[in-house]
This record gives sequence, C-alpha cells and structure tokens, in this order.
Amino acid sequence: MGKPTGFMEYKREKTKEQPPLERILNWNEYASRLSDESLQTQGARCMDCATPFCHMGIEVRGAAAGCPIQNVIPEWNDLVYKGKWQEALQRLHMTNNFPEFTGRVCPAPCEGSCTLGINEPSVAIKSIERSIIDKGFENNWIVPRIPSHRTGKKIAIVGSGPAGLAAADQLNQKGHSVTVYERADRPGGLLMYGIPNMKLEKEVVERRVNLLQQEGIDFVLNTEVGVDITGEQLKNEYDAVILCVGAQKQRALHIEGSESEGVHLAMDYLTGVTQSLLDSKFKDGKALNVKGKDVIVIGGGDTGADCVATAIRQEARSVYQFGKHPELPKVRTDETPWPQDPNVYKLDYAYEEVAAVKGRDPREYCIQTKKIVKDKNGRVKELHTIQMEKVLGEDGFYYFKELPGTEKIWPAQYVFVAIGFEGVENKIADHFGVNLVRNRIQASIKDFATNVPGVFVAGDARRGQSLVVWAIKEGRAVAASVEEFLTTSVKA
Ligand SMILES: Cc1cc2nc3c(=O)[nH]c(=O)nc-3n(C[C@H](O)[C@H](O)[C@H](O)COP(=O)(O)OP(=O)(O)OC[C@H]3O[C@@H](n4cnc5c(N)ncnc54)[C@H](O)[C@@H]3O)c2cc1C
Ligand code: SF4
Repeated sequence: MGKPTGFMEYKREKTKEQPPLERILNWNEYASRLSDESLQTQGARCMDCATPFCHMGIEVRGAAAGCPIQNVIPEWNDLVYKGKWQEALQRLHMTNNFPEFTGRVCPAPCEGSCTLGINEPSVAIKSIERSIIDKGFENNWIVPRIPSHRTGKKIAIVGSGPAGLAAADQLNQKGHSVTVYERADRPGGLLMYGIPNMKLEKEVVERRVNLLQQEGIDFVLNTEVGVDITGEQLKNEYDAVILCVGAQKQRALHIEGSESEGVHLAMDYLTGVTQSLLDSKFKDGKALNVKGKDVIVIGGGDTGADCVATAIRQEARSVYQFGKHPELPKVRTDETPWPQDPNVYKLDYAYEEVAAVKGRDPREYCIQTKKIVKDKNGRVKELHTIQMEKVLGEDGFYYFKELPGTEKIWPAQYVFVAIGFEGVENKIADHFGVNLVRNRIQASIKDFATNVPGVFVAGDARRGQSLVVWAIKEGRAVAASVEEFLTTSVKA
C-alpha cells in the first residue's frame, strides 16, 4: 500500500490546468501533469482500504461503480508512491490499452467509488493514471511489441474509435492479422473528430495509432464499408468481422424554425473545427466561425459543453447552454449512494472558461426552446423559451411542467443542437443484415456476436453513446470472444 498515514497527511491535488483566460487563446490541451514529487504524494493518499471499490467496475443499483476496465488502481498507486514508475506502467497496461486517452478524458467513475472519498476528497486516480503513461512515452519505455508469430487468421474491424483500436490491439497481439477500415481521413473515431483538441490533443491519438501500425495493424482510411467496399467482400476475405462503428446518429431538433440557416448539429460544428485545425490551423477557412456572434447550445450534456468551449475560443459575443434538467446538487445525495459514481454539480472546463470571460456560468437550467425565429433571409434571429419545473407525478415518475409567465426571447445567430444520439446509422446495420434493438446492434455481453455468423459488434454501436473507457472494455471483450470463435470454428 501507499503510506499508511498518507491520507491523513496530504491534500488531494489533481492535474495542473492553464488558467481559463490564458487557455482560451489557444487550442492546446489545458491540463498537464503534476511533478513526480506531487504524484508520489498523491499515490501515498491511497489507504489500502481492503475492499477497493475503485477498481471493481460493477453495477450498484443499475449505476456503474468503479473503473469499468478494472484498472488495478491500489497497486499502481503504491508503485508510484515508491517511485517504481516502470512497474506501475506495466500494471496499467495489463488492463488498459490506452491510458493516455482515459487519463485525459475519462470522467473517472473510479474516484466516485474511492473509499477515502466517503469523507475526504478522493485519491486523484485519473491524474496518476495519466502521469504513468505520459512518463512512459517520454522515457521511451513504450516500444512496439511485434508479435513473434502469425496465426494466418485475418480479422476486419470496421471503425477506428477506441473500441475498434482496443479490439485490434488485443487480436494483433495474439498473432492474428488485423485490418481496420475507417471512413474518415484520420483514425481515432470520436477521439479524433469529436472530443476537442483542448481536451485530447490529436498527436496523442496519432502516437498510439503509429505504434499499432508498427506492431502490424493495417489501417485503411477514407473507406466506408457498405459504400467503398461491401460487407460481403469483408466476410469472404476475413475470418471474422467486428463492427465498431459507434452510435453517431444525432438526434435532430423538431421545433418550429429548426431548419433556419445557422442551426447546426453539434457534431458538424465540432468535427469541422477539428478538421480545419488539423489540416491548416484554420487557414483553409472551412471551419464554421462564430466570432462576434450570439451562440446558443441546445442540450445540457458534455457534447454541448464542448461546443461552448469551442465557441468561446472563437470569441463568440455571447454563449448560453440550455438544459432541460435542474442544476445538480453540490454534494452526493441518497439517489447515488457511495460507491456509485455521484451525480453532482461540476464546473466543467467549458463553464469555467465562459465564467472567466463573461462573469457567469453559461448554463440555463429547466429551459425549453419553444421555437426558433428566422429573419427575412431565413437565418436564425432569436429563440423563444419558457422555464419548466420538474415535478414528481402521482405515478412515481418525474415530468416537466411549463411555468406560465416565464417566456423569454434570446438573440442568436448560431444554434448548436446537442440533444443526444439516437444510435447507429441504419445503413451499416441494413448492409450487414444485423439485428437492431433500440437503434443499437444487438449482441449480448456474453459473446458480442450478432445474428450474422462471423460478424461481431462492440463499443457505442452495441451499448449506445457512452464513454471511452466502456469502448475500450468492449473492444477487449469482443477480442476475447473472436479469439474463441477463431479457435473453435471452421470457415466454410
Ligand atoms: C463531442 C463528444 C465528446 C465526448 N467526450 C468524451 C469524453 O470527454 N470522455 C469520454 O469518456 N467519452 C467522451 N465521448 C464519448 C466517446 O467518445 C465514445 O463513447 C467513444 O468514442 C465510442 O467509441 P467507439 O469506438 O464505440 O465509436 P466511435 O468513437 O464513435 O468510432 C466509430 C468509428 O467508426 C467509423 N465508421 C462508422 N461507420 C463506418 C463505416 N461504414 N465504414 C468505416 N468506418 C465507419 C466512424 O467514422 C468512427 O471513426 C464524447 C462523445 C462526443 C460525441
Ligand atoms: S479508466 Fe477511468 S475509471 Fe478507470 S482508473 Fe482511469 S480514470 Fe478511473
């Protein structure tokens, strides 16, 4: 364990963050790691609590508790405390293919389940994870692991997000020949074109993909399966096919005026900005630019927050984010008891930035957009809203009630719609003939097999829009299932 009395002696410290007013002037990652000395102190706070829930990755009353990939957190906390960084790295890689991604963008459910967190700020697990892997890359401890033999089995993976990359890594290390097909011009899925650069610099994604390539994985980019190459071709050429196509079908807004010019789906905005940043540092002028405009983001979730952070970097005149739900409580309530990940108020990076520039949090709670009004040129001009109250009905369900007299008009020249994702795009499911349940490709977590023999599914495509850590978990699990399939099946 760490230092027996560490949790009583040291305060929690997390990754260093560039001050909001400085970081909005650039598109670089705003968080950087602590000094080795501080990290050892943070590792010393782990109190060897005998039954560590942080690494369990279980469901408690239907909600996730602990790390979904079962990172052996207390072990590496101890190794970091003792300065044994390489051993910590080896332990970390045992369960996590890509700690450099989770160490940056994971919401860290592990910390919500930390025993110390019951009455003190939890151990800074995510910061420690990120530091172990970053130190590993800086010191060249991470080198290509080229498999010593090849089995002759071939696997096609469709989609290069974290699920596809994790599955590819696992199967390649078993000696199978893996080809990843990706329709975008760069690999990484939402790690590349989704999560903004200031949260996850794209060099970090490219560094890992380069390593996977050196280890023998082939990436075929700009190739949409079902359009540029058929599913039949893949099924004939490969021993197994894994669909890791994500759940990127965005939910559209169906209210009066939502067709107005200036109303965009959030992902179109975010993808365009990242693409232009990477291609030309914005010189190509292809990114949508909201400089000097009034921006409203409809949808109170994380994708909406990323739009807010993007708009504030582009120097929008005003930025608001409309959410349907009330503000979350500041402290854990009985609805999410320990060791569940608590559903509490957080000042996300984007909100901190708007607060620093505009002097207020951009979030508006319990608000419903009734209609979008356009000008004579068909461009969005204003949004009409009403406040709502969340009330508990006699049937035990919550519902939203409009509050008369709270109508308001908001000026806006740009509106970004971030009200969630419906599931997979139907055309890929139809193309392979796989069954869908609630817009997700159907497969159980027992074997990740679809109804089509030899075709498997993992990640958001199976579970719906989720988190990077769950995608990695599913990528690892589908690989284990495909491995079993390859060793027990005979191809016709
Ligand atoms: C804006 C945004 C921000 C997010 N931020 C976070 C965060 O901070 N932390 C976090 O943990 N999670 C975050 N998420 C969620 C996380 O990114 C996803 O859960 C995760 O990337 C899912 O991984 P995946 O591999 O299943 O699918 P994806 O990452 O969606 O990758 C699917 C890939 O399949 C490709 N593809 C689809 N169809 C085809 C086809 N027919 N042929 C070839 N290729 C195809 C797509 O182009 C894509 O590259 C965010 C999501 C969004 C939208
Ligand atoms: S992957 Fe996420 S949940 Fe797991 S240890 Fe890292 S930050 Fe915690």
